[in-house]
Amino acid sequence: MNSEDGSTKKNRDKKREPCISPMPHEIPSAVIQVDRTGVIIGWNQHAEQLFGWPESSVSGKLLIEIILPLRQRKNNTDFWVHLQKNASTTHSSRPLEYRLTRKDGNEFEAGLSITKIKGSEGDVMNVSISDISPSKYTEEDRILSEVICQSAPEAIIVTNAHQKILFINPAFSRITGYSAKDALGKTPRILQSGRHDSTFYQTMWQHLNKYDTWQGEIWNKRKNGEIFPEWLSIQRVNDHTGEARYFIGFFSDITKRKKIEDKISFQAKHDPLTGLVNRSVIRERLEQALKQENRSHKSTAVLFVDLDKFKAVNDTLGHLFGDLLLKETAKRLLQCVRKTDTVSRSGGDEFLILLTNVSEKKEAAHVAEKILKRLAQPFHLEDQTVFVSGSCGIAVSPDDGESVVTLFKHADLAMYQAKATGRNCFHFFTKKMNRSARSDPVLESELKKVLSDQELVIHYQPAIHLRTHQILSLEPFVRWRHPRHGPLLPEKFFPLAEKSGLISQIDRWVIHTACEQIQRWRTRQQLQCMLSVNISNRQFNDPSFPAFIADTIERFDCPKDLISIEIQENVLTNPNNIALKQLLDLKKKGVKIAIDDFGTGSASLNTLSKYPIDILKIDTSLINKIHLDTRKQLLVQAIIDIGHRFNIKIIAEGINKKAELECLKNLGCDWGQGFYFNKPAPAEAFEATLKLYT
Ligand code: GH3
Ligand code: MG
Repeated sequence: MNSEDGSTKKNRDKKREPCISPMPHEIPSAVIQVDRTGVIIGWNQHAEQLFGWPESSVSGKLLIEIILPLRQRKNNTDFWVHLQKNASTTHSSRPLEYRLTRKDGNEFEAGLSITKIKGSEGDVMNVSISDISPSKYTEEDRILSEVICQSAPEAIIVTNAHQKILFINPAFSRITGYSAKDALGKTPRILQSGRHDSTFYQTMWQHLNKYDTWQGEIWNKRKNGEIFPEWLSIQRVNDHTGEARYFIGFFSDITKRKKIEDKISFQAKHDPLTGLVNRSVIRERLEQALKQENRSHKSTAVLFVDLDKFKAVNDTLGHLFGDLLLKETAKRLLQCVRKTDTVSRSGGDEFLILLTNVSEKKEAAHVAEKILKRLAQPFHLEDQTVFVSGSCGIAVSPDDGESVVTLFKHADLAMYQAKATGRNCFHFFTKKMNRSARSDPVLESELKKVLSDQELVIHYQPAIHLRTHQILSLEPFVRWRHPRHGPLLPEKFFPLAEKSGLISQIDRWVIHTACEQIQRWRTRQQLQCMLSVNISNRQFNDPSFPAFIADTIERFDCPKDLISIEIQENVLTNPNNIALKQLLDLKKKGVKIAIDDFGTGSASLNTLSKYPIDILKIDTSLINKIHLDTRKQLLVQAIIDIGHRFNIKIIAEGINKKAELECLKNLGCDWGQGFYFNKPAPAEAFEATLKLYT
């Protein structure tokens, strides 16, 4: 710093001059006395406190070197000139604002007032300094707060303790449509949408009063009546006694965000093509339904629907057309179920359907029928008319599984069975279905040679009169003499044979071979009995099957009523009229019709009046331990009575014990079959048995 006369150095070095004016130690602000060259000659206690320097350290030094921050010392002339210019002789000068520094290097905003005092040895100046940082910040804060409130993108609303609105910012008006004039003096209830009940608000206030804060999503209403979602934070501001003084709310309009969230959540749960829920949703719903099932004592049915030969649609009409067809399929499926049921697309041309609160399996069969009928109706899309069909597998809890995984798997297996039995039909899951049917490629390839390698063999079991022991029929059971596995039961390889289509050839081979065998026994042993053959449902979609039977009858010169065809109940419940037509054709050729495993499938008693049935074979599950189960007895009794009225022969399958036989005799059952009489045996072994009956 340069002094007026350039004598700074000299002054600094010379002995400290006595104060011409006493230092005002009692004044509550720092006062520094400087001579006309800027050298400190007085430094009161407050100055010591404010700057951290004791008087002894600063006396005789230049003021600017003590109080100005280092970087400003270069411009010290300005500072000194400014100070002198503003020095007043009569009263304290208008405060000057400077940034000063303390001993520890901390800087602060200071207000400086300078008074010039005349003395005998020249003028001195009293520089009175106070720290104005706090008041300065308060003012700045106020301005800043104002700016923030005005420009904040978030709405701000302040109410008093009685919820009277005291302040709103422009964002509030922008979002809600209420101007300050509309809102001030009112309560935030002007925004209520009516979407939340009183419990919602009570809970919110309880939380707010307990923790002084609340935040959450809330639906409010704009001035124009539009309801919108907002994310709201409320802060309770208390007075010094702890009573609420203000409530400050900050909120933003989250309409856009919610739309995006909703879209993302929809995409996560839905199939983008059809808009149906996806597999994960149906999985959750099934899980839920299974939990509730225990309480409601109702069942849940899973229907697995797969379009038949859908690839051909893609191949001939294009993938986009295929997409349209899938969309239309989704619509049709939805039309076939109740609102409470779920239809989902699990991928490709596969759809999973969940029916809840099912009382009887029949209900699921009814829906499956409805679906297949609806799918079989022509699709008119883009000036094209296309015919498709679907195959459906059904698994019903708890019999077919009590977990999501098992029910899905069993419905899938049943669907696969429906495909294997000719498509355009539905199939209930049965325990007989071989779970490994899909996954034994080695066995599958070996099976292709089973006929040419003559590895199939037939075992015979008779159905006999329970009192006279006369043979009514012989049932051929096919076994595969597998070179490595030994004899395999049909359950092991029929599903594979169904899948590959080989089952038709196997069926025909069995009929042919058994007819040949029975003809031999007829001529050699005068055997008079029917051949009762089990055939795959697939035959009912094969128009050449009745002709094959006619040929066989002719070739072996069988009496016309000596062949009985055993069919599954679901052949009759499929909405496929080919089955009926084929049955009638077979009947015309003198063939008898038997229903196998009666009492476990979906056929109603009405079926008996609709179709020309000759024989009912009561399923093993109803015969097993029948003597110990009165409910089974009542059921079997009813089947026998109805059968007799319709002139239908009743055969009880799976008689294994004498007690079961006696019980059945008492119920009036005429015919029976089972290990109690004979196990199925190959022709040579069976011949000995035959002698006992003929
Ligand atoms: P099957 O009777 O045995 O079911 O024969 P399929 O021709 O219907 O064959 P499958 O069910 O095994 O295959 C379904 C086909 O659906 C496979 C694929 O070409 C087609 N696909 C899968 N996803 C889509 C899709 O999003 N759009 C279209 N257009 N086709 C699809
Ligand atoms: Mg398909």
